[in-house]
Amino acid sequence: MDIKIIKNPAPSQKPDEESLGFGLTYTDHMFIMDFNKTQGWHDARIVPFGPLALHPAAVVLHYGAEVFEGLKAYRGADGTVRMFRPVDNIRRMNASAERLCLPLLDEKDAMQALEEFVRLEQDFVPHKDGTSLYIRPFMIATEPNLGLHGINEASFIIIASPSGSYYKEGIAPVSIMIETEDVRAVKGGTGYAKCGGNYAASTRAGERAEKLGFSQVLWLDGVERRYIEEVGSMNVMFKISGRIVTPDLIGTVLPGITRRSIIELLRDENYEVEERRISVDEIIEALENGELEEAFGCGTAAVVSPIGKLVFNGREYVINNNEIGSLTGHLYETLTGIQWGRLEDKKGWTYRV
Ligand SMILES: *Cc1c(COP(=O)(O)O)cnc(C)c1O
Repeated sequence: MDIKIIKNPAPSQKPDEESLGFGLTYTDHMFIMDFNKTQGWHDARIVPFGPLALHPAAVVLHYGAEVFEGLKAYRGADGTVRMFRPVDNIRRMNASAERLCLPLLDEKDAMQALEEFVRLEQDFVPHKDGTSLYIRPFMIATEPNLGLHGINEASFIIIASPSGSYYKEGIAPVSIMIETEDVRAVKGGTGYAKCGGNYAASTRAGERAEKLGFSQVLWLDGVERRYIEEVGSMNVMFKISGRIVTPDLIGTVLPGITRRSIIELLRDENYEVEERRISVDEIIEALENGELEEAFGCGTAAVVSPIGKLVFNGREYVINNNEIGSLTGHLYETLTGIQWGRLEDKKGWTYRV
């Protein structure tokens, strides 16, 4: 694939690495390519970062036809820039696109786009401990048509944002409320797709929980309101009597790359990992009889986020004295060690740019 590059004539100052937030500043360029039914994907280009021109009747603005990905580029102590399992992000984006009738990407072309874009922006990958370049590929339906009859035109875009450490004050357990009113996904719906619509529908519960002093909600299944699915926008894992249990991927749970990596690491270390349905009653029972040893969310942004308190129907349960568990800490050190190049990458997960 030929990628045309138009350099930004007015490169910006690199942001101060001491005060990087998340998704607040962007690099100087963005990758774009367009799709239509006659030409397929075409016009791949890297251009100066800036606003997009969209027809006001563009399908994405009315019917939410959008999918996205999130991954990071990490700068190792030796200066090397690495991405973590980027091919998995491209594959998942295609799975999401298929669900929303958006066009599929050629895996090789998408990887080339990602690599050339990150290489061009590599000076934006920050150096400070725990910082990274957050990369956001996304796809939108651009066709102007208020009558929705399939999706005939789309754009695939990549932007990137230098981001600070998720844990500025050190890794700390969070308080989570089990959500009993709103649901995130149902079987047959879009739960497994990484699409903006899922986030739009999740915002209300998240905001209510935050107002009550919780950092996120724990989602239950949309039919029986009984089985655990995810925590906020992370996958969730529990350590019960030495075994690790996590919800299985039955269409309502986002197949996280962090989740998959943790499962592989745990199985390599001979932990028993059960991917299955987990009822909220099982969790409450394990909490009450002291068998629930650790609980954590996992995803690209935080890597792991220990759960220190769970509240269900007004009752509060404390996990591991509201401290980070030893396995949770070990997984955090192992994954971040591989990502930043401090540990040997025996699994071939990192991708040098
Ligand atoms: C992105 C995402 C995750 C985590 O996926 P990773 O690939 O590990 O970053 C989990 N749940 C939801 C809803 C997500 O959108």
